[in-house]
Amino acid sequence: MYMEDIKMVDLLGQHNDIREEIDSAIRETIDSSSFINGKAVETFEQNLARYLKVKHVIGCGNGTDALQIALMALGLEPGDKVLVPAFTYVATAEVIALLGLVPVMYDVNPRTFNTDASVSLEYMDELVDERTRVIVPVHLFGQCSQMDAVMEFSRRHNLMVVEDCAQALGSKCRVGDREIMAGCIGDIGCTSFFPTKNLGCMGDGGALMTNDDSLAERIRMIANHGQKRKYFHQVIGCNSRLDTIQAAVLDIKLKHLDEYIAARRAAAASYTRLLKAFDPPEKYICTPEESDFTTHTYHQYTIIVKDCLKDPDGNARDALRAYLAEKGIPSMIYYPLPLSRQEAFAGIARKREDFNPEAEDSLHNSEFLSEHVLSLPMHTCLKEGQIEYIAEAISCRYSQTV
Ligand SMILES: *Cc1c(COP(=O)(O)O)cnc(C)c1O
Repeated sequence: MYMEDIKMVDLLGQHNDIREEIDSAIRETIDSSSFINGKAVETFEQNLARYLKVKHVIGCGNGTDALQIALMALGLEPGDKVLVPAFTYVATAEVIALLGLVPVMYDVNPRTFNTDASVSLEYMDELVDERTRVIVPVHLFGQCSQMDAVMEFSRRHNLMVVEDCAQALGSKCRVGDREIMAGCIGDIGCTSFFPTKNLGCMGDGGALMTNDDSLAERIRMIANHGQKRKYFHQVIGCNSRLDTIQAAVLDIKLKHLDEYIAARRAAAASYTRLLKAFDPPEKYICTPEESDFTTHTYHQYTIIVKDCLKDPDGNARDALRAYLAEKGIPSMIYYPLPLSRQEAFAGIARKREDFNPEAEDSLHNSEFLSEHVLSLPMHTCLKEGQIEYIAEAISCRYSQTV
């Protein structure tokens, strides 16, 4: 049994459905020749702000820049500490170190991959001292961290909250009695329009969200060389802009975002239904768990592969991955190392053990996940037959006699 053409992501398939609209938007930008700060940038910012029900959206060069600009806007001093999960993409913590701030790493919930009250915040009081200024919860794989708990924690310790919603644009989170879009709950939200994200452009792009007028003004200034008036620079800034062509593309794709999310959710529901049908599933794999306080937009469909007798030597996840590859099924490991173990952060990152010598293995779940997670193909053009084939392959693997 072998099925061709199963892709991890399928950008061309998505593009083919809107090719003409995109072509004409790009042509319009070329005809206007205002490639930087053209009209489409402002239009897209306003449309995204309306979609997210947030006061300000400020476009920038990419998601990593968005995080950097957010931290630059908060008036921090070198040596200030920033709380960040150890299980995330490098960008989240990279910008902290880049600005001379200290990343303090905490653990995530092993079933949701995210910041929550029962695991992450449980011991977090211990990580906070007078230099701790910010927490950066990540909404990994498409569902939100437990933001009501994060907000309560941040109020108690007087911290600012920067949400990394690069993987969860369009997700909604319940905070108190309100439902708020991912990225619009804390002081600043940061997102990415990298081509494979829920809302992706045709190159690099990113944006910041905030409801705070003075932060919005500062963010805009920082992203534009620290100037409000051309050639008069008030603060040290950077050059990070959302290109007009990318904004024009994004404005078209934004209209389809809910459709794209629905397609991802439908694919995920099929995976979960089929994977739970084989017997006995929980012995070998865990399907993603949906928290009740957030919607899940399935940027990734990530399973946990348990160690089992089938793979007496070596890692069960790696063995499953190799087996799937033989059947033409791509898969990816997001992420193979917790940030605390990355060479780049040696001597820079702090963790609970640095504050409390009696605490051991404080990043235990992040370590476990980096050895056991596997992300299956997930995109808006995945066909039911392909999902059946993938689920069938996984079930076969575990029903074969060794
Ligand atoms: C993609 C991503 C980023 C960075 O976005 P870029 O646009 O690639 O710079 C940051 N954080 C997370 C969690 C991401 O997935």
